[in-house]
Formats: sequence, C-alpha cells, structure tokens
Amino acid sequence: MIHFHYECQDCGKKFERDDVRYLCPECSPNALPEVPLKGVLRVVFDYKAIAREWSEGHHDLQLFCPVEKEFHPDFEVANTPFMKAKRLGKTLKTPRLYIKNDSLCMSGSLKDRASFLMVAEAERLGLDTLITASTGNAACALSAICAGSEKKAVIFVPKSAPKAKLTQLRLYGADLKIVDGNYDQAYRESLLYSQSHEGLNRNTAYHPLTIEGKKTVSLEIFMQNNQKAPDYIFVSAGDGVIISGVYKGFYDLYLSGLIEKIPQLICVQAEASDAIHRLFVNGNYAPALHPDTVADSISVINPGNAYMAVDAIKTSKGFSLIVSDQEIMEAQKILAENTGIYAEPAASTALAGLIKSLNTQSIDPEKEIVLLITGNGLKDIDASIRYLDSKVE
Ligand SMILES: *Cc1c(COP(=O)(O)O)cnc(C)c1O
Ligand SMILES: [Zn+2]
Repeated sequence: MIHFHYECQDCGKKFERDDVRYLCPECSPNALPEVPLKGVLRVVFDYKAIAREWSEGHHDLQLFCPVEKEFHPDFEVANTPFMKAKRLGKTLKTPRLYIKNDSLCMSGSLKDRASFLMVAEAERLGLDTLITASTGNAACALSAICAGSEKKAVIFVPKSAPKAKLTQLRLYGADLKIVDGNYDQAYRESLLYSQSHEGLNRNTAYHPLTIEGKKTVSLEIFMQNNQKAPDYIFVSAGDGVIISGVYKGFYDLYLSGLIEKIPQLICVQAEASDAIHRLFVNGNYAPALHPDTVADSISVINPGNAYMAVDAIKTSKGFSLIVSDQEIMEAQKILAENTGIYAEPAASTALAGLIKSLNTQSIDPEKEIVLLITGNGLKDIDASIRYLDSKVE
C-alpha cells in the first residue's frame, strides 16, 4: 500500500495513521454538534509513489486507498454506472451532460462508499462494532455493509426518517436507537455512546476515512471518463462530506499528476438547510435553525464538514446555490422522465441546482457537466406521491 499520513486541516499538524483516530486532538478538544467540526484530518499520500506506479502501467484505484485490500469486505458496494444523459442534455441544452448514478449503490445511496471503507478500517483495527448517527442513508449503508461482513452496527437515527429507510435498517438487523429529535440530537447521542462503548464511530466528517470513502466516486468518474476530469460537477450538500470527498478524489489525482485541473464543484443546498451556502457567501458561520426540507438526507442544522466543503468549492473555483422544495420535486420528475433514473429528493437537488444555474447563466452549457445522483427515489415515495397529487387538479 502507498504510505500516507494524516494532516490537520486547521493547524497543519501531521500524525501517523495509528497515532490518532478521529479529529486533531489539539484543534477539537470538545467537538460538539453545535458547530462545524474543527481539526478534521486529511489523508496525505506519497503522491510521487502513486505517480511512479501509475506511469509503470499500474492503473489501479487501490493506489489511492488508505486501507489495505486484505481488510476490505469481499463484495462490492459501488462501481456505479457513468452515462451520457442524452435526452436530458437535449431538454436542458447541455450537449455534454453526464450522470454518475450512485442511486445504484448496494443500500441505495453514495453513503455506501464511506461505510465500506469504515468497515474495512474496523476490520484492520480488530473492532466488531461500528456506531453512527444519521438522517437515514449513512445508517442504511453502514447497516448493510455490517450485515454482509459480520460486524455489528449501532445506529442513532431520528424517528422522522422516511419509512423505507427505517425499514431497511430493521431488515439489515442493526441495533437501532430511534432518537426523539433531529439529526444533531442523534449525533450527540452517538458520541456519548461511543465514549462508553468499544467500536468505531463512523459519524460523517468526524472520522477522516468517511471522506476517503466518498472520494472513490471521483476516482471512478475519472476512469469512466477516459481518465479525464470533467468541467463541472453538481453535488447536493448537507454536512458537506460528499462534496469534500468529491474534491479529495480529484485533488489526489491532481497531485499524482494524472489530471491538469480539478473540476469546478457546484454545491447545491435546500433553501431551509443552507448553512454551507451562507458560509460560502458571507464568510460567517451560522446554523440553519429550521432545516425543514423535503430533502431529508440534506437536512442539517450544523453541517459537520462546513469548513472543508467551503474550501473545496473555493479552491475548485466553483460556487454554491440554494433551491426550493418545489424546484427539487420538479427536478425529480424531470430526471425521471428524461433518464429513467428515480432519485430521492436530496439527490434531485443537484439537478435543481443545474437547472437554476442554467437559467441564471452561471455556467457554460457547452462544457462537460456531471450530475452526481446520490440516492434512490424508492427510499421516499411519499414525497413523490405528495408532489404528483398536488399537480392533479
Ligand atoms: C448524505 C447525502 C447527501 C449529502 O451529503 P453530505 O456529505 O451530508 O453533504 C446528498 N444526497 C444524499 C442522497 C445523501 O444521502
Ligand atoms: Zn489541528
């Protein structure tokens, strides 16, 4: 395996792999759910070694993976289709529009990527239990992968999560702790639980390998796009880990000399859950106090990875925008009609952002655009039923 170390995003301190587990101990003495995390760690590889291996014809994405293959579960969860969206491209007048369809991950969302790597890391550490708080998808992902690899999943999830997600969790046999509160409350309870129980906490952003897991989506896009980086990627954001992961994948490729530029990342949030957007626009952090949106997977008061997400948007020369629930549900319909892909509201948010960006002429429609579809519509059919019924007069 290629050597790596961890580096604190705030103070720059370096740590060897087993000297630290979650956040930088100096920058995060009391990580609370009330504010975005400080001291999030970044995995820094020996990029010269990767470049050398690659130039010798060893074109294996495993070079970018910080957990040895021998510890990985012996099944795949991602490797999802990357397709040219011809009909949708005609409708939107974007001739080079592509979709990376992560609604086809094993448990139905991109979160499988992070959970997969976390289960591998637990295996390496000899731990049998993984713990997470989640609005639903991270919990489903962790529970599914734990089920397939003989690990135990302890899950803190708000009782308001959509029925299908709660049903997935029950079926996968997770140790389910239903929280009478929101995601931030679930997050707090999971941290308390982790302090007194053995196990690896998979909370998003809290463990650096969640970002490393999610970055594999970019590595796959690179390979499926003939080893090239696209111009724009539209990403819906809640905690800001997916967009940070998307950035990290291209950043690794860039530092290894395999691409010449990092795609411009466009961050799309729901109007009511817009803390990253406001941090990007004003430079000041304030929570989204009432993050009520149909896009449950991106509903969050305090996005854990807000700072890193804003960094990713800025360094990639991208931008951020917000869309209404109405625009999200319209986008779900447009996506389904034009591609055959049924995306959950949080995933349709990325398309709502693309449509809005085209309407405001914020992007060049002739460039290569990738729409990241992060989760499956079957996880929340009630939202679709409400929308469709509201259109029937
Ligand atoms: C989690 C999730 C997101 C957002 O990811 P963050 O890392 O929280 O920004 C987007 N779409 C879906 C379907 C998700 O499950
Ligand atoms: Zn630090």
